Amino acid sequence: MKKIFLILSLTVLFSINIYAEKIKYVFLFIGDGMSMSSEFALSKFLYGKDKLLFWNNFPVQTYMETWSMDSYEGEYDKNNFDSEKGYNAKVAGIVPYPYYKTEESEQYFRDSIPTDSAAAATAFSTGQKVYNWGLCYDADKDEFISNITDKLNKKKEYNVALITTDKFYSATPAGFSSHNDSRDNGKEIAAEILSKTKPEIVAGKNSFAEMTTFASLNNYYLLDSSEINKPQVFDLVNKKIFLELKNYYEPMPQEDFTLEEFKYRNENNKFSNIVLYLTKILLQKKKPFFALIEVAGIDKANHSNLYGKMLGAMYELNETVKRVYDLIDSKSTDMTFDNTLIIVTADHSTGMLRFRKDMKKGELPFIYTKKKDEIKNKNKIIIRSNDKIKYQSKNHTNELVGCYSVGAGSDLFKKYINEKNIIDNTDINKILNEILIDNN
Ligand SMILES: [Zn+2]
Repeated sequence: MKKIFLILSLTVLFSINIYAEKIKYVFLFIGDGMSMSSEFALSKFLYGKDKLLFWNNFPVQTYMETWSMDSYEGEYDKNNFDSEKGYNAKVAGIVPYPYYKTEESEQYFRDSIPTDSAAAATAFSTGQKVYNWGLCYDADKDEFISNITDKLNKKKEYNVALITTDKFYSATPAGFSSHNDSRDNGKEIAAEILSKTKPEIVAGKNSFAEMTTFASLNNYYLLDSSEINKPQVFDLVNKKIFLELKNYYEPMPQEDFTLEEFKYRNENNKFSNIVLYLTKILLQKKKPFFALIEVAGIDKANHSNLYGKMLGAMYELNETVKRVYDLIDSKSTDMTFDNTLIIVTADHSTGMLRFRKDMKKGELPFIYTKKKDEIKNKNKIIIRSNDKIKYQSKNHTNELVGCYSVGAGSDLFKKYINEKNIIDNTDINKILNEILIDNN
């Protein structure tokens, strides 16, 4: 009996060890403001059918609650709360629009206070629900909360990369790498990221010229996104990298396309090229890594109710996930699906986009008209939306978002997805912790 027990214990120990050794690389992709309608829209535009985006092939596909403490109806107690008061599934549905819609659910989304990106990123990075606008900040206690990057920095086993199409100190990357009672304190946040948190790679836009110098003072090697296509003459293996995104634009959808679905204004600055370039540099460092990769344009376009721009940003995310997946699948690097995890999700939904008519492949819901601009004596393009779609909001909503995963450790999702096939945004932190912190 003792012998069997010993063998069993050894087997358990051994398998835990193998499991721990296996997960070396974690990619967390966030589509900022990516509602289920945004996913539906891109899939319809590209293929004429729903659920054909790249991540729709992943073995884990679930919906996620994104509510923050601002959304909570009633007195919130961290240790004893009712998630129905954060997201009322009985009224709002256990699946999001376009798969569920009632008058009550629509009213619920108009009334319910949604999360912002800061509270959502904090939930991912700390496992704690907080009030909107704070970054890893518990307003009740007036205390900062340790996040996943803090823990990884302590353990020194993983490199951290923050890659975004937004400013590098904007709410989503900042929620993974800074502590502040307000996301508006951009300079403080930027300084904390570059001088205290110091991720191995920081990539994004930057509006503070002095932060470029500051990055250099903090031993970052400076690059800008136009340089990634030049042959690499410098050795970046031992350097931390600060890459500034310059001249970056999301591509525009081509109506009734035959070959090219989207047109890039700047072919060299595709987000997928930037992410692949940085992934290869991370791999050269021969150290496991956690990469947060955010496409922020989906949120911005949905706020402005710009359907075409939203499609362009969605396309960037879809292409980037695909190219990272293909790189893993190619087995040309150390990454395989036995040691690499991909998670694709959104921090919240934005815009309450609704479809009034079925959208076909290549179909865009607006009419372009050329009109002469008399002053500039140029043709000016006027865009009018027609009656095929309607945005119901210019803000975030408390709607469920999609959450997808493939690769090593994606089985862990089973532990956290509830009987309604819904996961909470704080569960993403529990999964990251199990993989990156507890198992090592
Ligand atoms: Zn937003």
